[in-house]
Amino acid sequence: MIRRKLLAAAAIAVAGTLTLTACSGSGDDSAGDGGDKTITFMFRGGPDEKAAYEAAIAKFTEDTGTKVKVIVTDADQYATKLQASVAGNNVPDVFYIEQASLQSYVASGVLMDITDQVDASGVDLSNIWEYGVNSYRFDGTTQGTPDGALYGLPKDVGPFSFGYNKTMLEAAGIPLPDKDTPLTWDEFVAISKQLTVDKNGDGTLDQWGTGLNVQWNLQSMVWSNGGDWTNEDHTEVTVDTPEFAEALQKFADLTNVEKVTPSASDAATLDTYQRWMAGEIGFFPVGPWDVSVYNDLDFDYDLIPWPTVGDAGTATWLGSLGIGVSATSKYPEDAVKLVTYLSADADAQQTLVDANIQIPNLIDVAEAWAAEEGAEPANRQEFLDIAQDYGRAMPAAFTYGAEWYDELWTNIQPVLDGKQTAADYLKETQPKMQTLLDESIANAEQAG
Ligand code: CA
Repeated sequence: MIRRKLLAAAAIAVAGTLTLTACSGSGDDSAGDGGDKTITFMFRGGPDEKAAYEAAIAKFTEDTGTKVKVIVTDADQYATKLQASVAGNNVPDVFYIEQASLQSYVASGVLMDITDQVDASGVDLSNIWEYGVNSYRFDGTTQGTPDGALYGLPKDVGPFSFGYNKTMLEAAGIPLPDKDTPLTWDEFVAISKQLTVDKNGDGTLDQWGTGLNVQWNLQSMVWSNGGDWTNEDHTEVTVDTPEFAEALQKFADLTNVEKVTPSASDAATLDTYQRWMAGEIGFFPVGPWDVSVYNDLDFDYDLIPWPTVGDAGTATWLGSLGIGVSATSKYPEDAVKLVTYLSADADAQQTLVDANIQIPNLIDVAEAWAAEEGAEPANRQEFLDIAQDYGRAMPAAFTYGAEWYDELWTNIQPVLDGKQTAADYLKETQPKMQTLLDESIANAEQAG
């Protein structure tokens, strides 16, 4: 469930190595049969997101006269469907693009360079989160740099924040965590222990301090301990460092040593996302895409910086999903106009933000939004701090495919179960990840 939610929102690509061929045919099967200009837009999302985007697009059609045929898929179907449309020479005019797929789609000639059109559109890029814009810049070698050509604009940036059940802490008489000072790891564990209780006295626990998914939550722990997945230029896998091992060990220890999370069997009955929503979990991550659902829960929650494992400062990841244009679109001007409209038009942004599915792309709109009286969660500013200051790209966001990164999770279960030490596991996994990263670099060179 949480994995689907994350995919729906902003996270990373599970793209792997794409085998794409440049498309030479029409990207638009609805054109040429009447003269009505219709462009296609393919995206993914749940019901809330679909409704919000359809409303924004209706306004676009009203303003510009350009009709938009919408193709929406489930989050986990999107990458496959997009690849199928590429293989079938039927690329939608406008479509969502994942950070980690960008280089392959550029290399295979699927994505249009929209630098000049965006410049000419008058969109003020300095009022959009820099990380979001730069995510879709590529200079032929490096993605994410400020001087690369633009192959899309951000649909959003997705700051992955941390939250707590305010109602639960208050009921337990625990002072609320400070929104400006991250908890140390020891403080976080101590509070989590206080919250892990058998409330109804039937001999089994029914409330826990936390319950985190390793794939989405380990990043924060590793980074705040000074570790990372790779060196700065993404050529060497560095998961076999003491800092990384300590963070992963502490992650596993939450369940096996500190015992502040549901056990594996408790989590199998009802996953921790469901238990958080049922008010049984004290601390849990919160993304902007969760807010529409969490605001309807029976308890109050708020955002705080992530607890820190070491002394490298609070840290988390900042996702993004982009909107790109097909290089073979028959209506490139209208297609780019739809991209700039969805990414940067104030009215469109308001429609999307009112649906509680993302933070505003426009910085001035976002600042006003964070300062709103009675905002829920109250500390919306934490999302903006992540977007502006301390959010980091996912480890595989700017590499050529994500297989090297996915390898870390493949055999990690014995560590999570306390049957293998983090250090041993990482030592044996680093060479496999390095081989895959080397292959990814070779593929990138070949494609480029
Ligand atoms: Ca109980």
